[in-house]
Amino acid sequence: MAGPAKITTKEQVEEFLNSYDDFLFDCDGVLWQGDQLLPYAAETLDLLRSKGKRLIFVTNNSTKSRQAYTKKFAKLGITVTAEEIFGSAYSSAIYLSKVVKLPKDKKVLVLGEAGIEEELASEGIQYVGGTDPSLRRDIAPEDYDKIVPDPSIGCVLCGLDLHINYLKLSMALINLQVPETIFLATNIDSTYPTNGKLFPGAGTMSAPLILASKRQPISLGKPSQAMMDCIKAKFDFAPARACMVGDRLDTDMRFGVEGGLGTLFVLTGVNTEADVLAADAPVAVKNYMSKLGDIYEILKN
Ligand code: PLP
Ligand code: CA
Repeated sequence: MAGPAKITTKEQVEEFLNSYDDFLFDCDGVLWQGDQLLPYAAETLDLLRSKGKRLIFVTNNSTKSRQAYTKKFAKLGITVTAEEIFGSAYSSAIYLSKVVKLPKDKKVLVLGEAGIEEELASEGIQYVGGTDPSLRRDIAPEDYDKIVPDPSIGCVLCGLDLHINYLKLSMALINLQVPETIFLATNIDSTYPTNGKLFPGAGTMSAPLILASKRQPISLGKPSQAMMDCIKAKFDFAPARACMVGDRLDTDMRFGVEGGLGTLFVLTGVNTEADVLAADAPVAVKNYMSKLGDIYEILKN
């Protein structure tokens, strides 16, 4: 099989754009780096819209709801609707309501932030934990008797929780010891980049629970196909006419390849040109370019 093809000419850009109707985008490393919009990224999105392409923005960040994430786009001058955004908090909520069909009388015990709470609420799912300030404390001696399996809890859902503590982990573990309790993770990223450094990702919240419960969560973030199934259920697209655009081979590009989508890898993020061309690359990418904005730049020149 031919290796990844670099797109550099007008003819190659046109052929690439004609191959797809739907574009799924990773955000950081593709559209922006931190708080810096990448050159011609906004112009490229406008150009794709003007050609009638559908845009879907896919993020593993569970701390913000789709609604809250639109503000990040707006701050950088990109106009999007919440409907075009698909985050791992939302895919977890969809998975519970549409796939698992969690009974209405069951609650979700959340380790995570407001993004998860807002998306669960949008699907009419009850939850406990999350940002509840009464859980931001040390475990007390009397807690050891009080923390027991709660029959109203049907699921433990782990995202990035900025106030993670022993009390919350204990409540989660005790409920996970009930085999019927569903174990989900919004995403299992080991780290995420912020301010040029790597901070502990959402996977570091579920990791102690995996160790202690000897159970594995279903992840609702890239590269898990459970997330892809939720996206396909919502947007109803033909995978062969859709393209996943990303900067990471082991998450974004694996997500696209395993979902049967075309793939466009860009060199403005985590992985490099040497990585994508390496004989032992984790996944075979179809196309790559220096930056997403090349689409606009090449077509306009
Ligand atoms: N998790 C958190 C908390 C983040 O802030 C980010 C990126 O900003 C991610 C995960 C990775 O998200 P993405 O899939 O958009 O690269
Ligand atoms: Ca990224």
